Amino acid sequence: MRYAVLSDVHGNLEALSAVLADAASEGALGVLCLGDAVGYGADPVACVELLGERSTGMVAGNHEYGALGLLDLRWFNPAARAAALWTREQLGADHQGYLSGLPLSSALGEATCVHASPRRPEEWEYLLSAEDGFEAFADFATRLCFVGHSHRPGVWSLGSSGPAHEDLGGPAWHDHRVPFHDGRRYIVNVGSVGQPRDRDPRAAYVVWDEDERSITLRRVMYDHKAAAAKILRAGLPRALADRLAHGM
Ligand code: ZN
Repeated sequence: MRYAVLSDVHGNLEALSAVLADAASEGALGVLCLGDAVGYGADPVACVELLGERSTGMVAGNHEYGALGLLDLRWFNPAARAAALWTREQLGADHQGYLSGLPLSSALGEATCVHASPRRPEEWEYLLSAEDGFEAFADFATRLCFVGHSHRPGVWSLGSSGPAHEDLGGPAWHDHRVPFHDGRRYIVNVGSVGQPRDRDPRAAYVVWDEDERSITLRRVMYDHKAAAAKILRAGLPRALADRLAHGM
């Protein structure tokens, strides 16, 4: 079975649609979503509905918590706060009910799925440096852990031959395959679908091949101008629109 593992869609329907089409062409029948389906972008409702229909499993991110009023918005920067309040108004009672029922962490076969870090998922810690990742291996029991949150793809692994960390941010890594070796465990950051921050404006996600035991990082071009125009039309902060063209 192949899964598309994706995170940080952030209400960007253009990016999500392009990623789901790419995933289908890659033979990924399952979809795992690691949270932050909403926040920043202009299509939170459409993204939640599409992910609710298509995803095999989904966990909550800090932007779900922010939009639902479960997280103090003082933790958000001003643009994120404005987007969270706007998103809250867009979500109907049924969407809010669906999002508030999402777990913080879930396991599927060999993989744990969590938005930020398997260590205290409700504290939304960023795994950025090599050390950040290595320290998190004690906090999940499966062979694999998928994370998002930093909007920056990368892989950490631990095994008898030592620790390894590969930062997969930037344009060079499209279609990069990482095979899983016996006796090693992995944390995979799948990057962001709807707001990449690694100077590559293309949407990022990962195809996980459960049988071949590998992941492949995919980067997908989408109509970021249309997504940016909708953000401006919605009256959301201009910076949220402008950054999509730069992938920052
Ligand atoms: Zn995010």
